[in-house]
Amino acid sequence: MAHGCFISYKKEDKNRGYLRRIVNRLNELKIPCSYLDRTIDSDNIDTVISVLRQEYMNNKPVTLFLIGANSYEDTKERWNRTYGYYRLHDEYNEQSFIIRELRATLSDYDGNPRHGVVGIVLPEIENAIYGGQTRCYHCGQVFDVVNVDDNTVIREFWENYYLLPDERCSNHYSEEGRYCILCRLNEFLQNPNRYIDRAYEKSKSDLAEHVHYKDIKHDYKLRDE
Ligand SMILES: [Zn+2]
Repeated sequence: MAHGCFISYKKEDKNRGYLRRIVNRLNELKIPCSYLDRTIDSDNIDTVISVLRQEYMNNKPVTLFLIGANSYEDTKERWNRTYGYYRLHDEYNEQSFIIRELRATLSDYDGNPRHGVVGIVLPEIENAIYGGQTRCYHCGQVFDVVNVDDNTVIREFWENYYLLPDERCSNHYSEEGRYCILCRLNEFLQNPNRYIDRAYEKSKSDLAEHVHYKDIKHDYKLRDE
């Protein structure tokens, strides 16, 4: 049986038609899905997480997280680099909405199980994320370079993508140490269940116990802090 999905996206990527393409494909395969099309008004992050979990993520044990050109971590360093020191940032974090959707996904509050995560890399950011192969100078192993970091994606995602380093060499992570699943958009559209099932299995594995988000800090405050 197909596992239902919640879709987390940036408005810019919805406008580019990516949300629609994914929803159409899921409908075609009769995979239930939901996504937020309104603002949840609350000044409390726990309330927001509980509304998300109860109204939108109920029976949707996997979150599809769209990674596009606007999914980066909103840092002071990035802002200064882009706009200079003299242009002031808005009081709030630009990524408040996707941050709380990922937090709701990763949360195990009230005894609810954590949900799985599939990061779907959109075409305009593929070259920034997939960096070919490299050889570890420490152990000699060849591995794929995957640049999920502050430049490309929010911390809730990448800190749980790179979750537990290899036991043999702390320079890199194997599949066993990564909680989030990552794939390109075209790979996902070919066989959505392949990635959704893998994310679901991760959420039921021992690795889920290591997932974290409460300790993750951001340079700008969330809308509900
Ligand atoms: Zn190594």
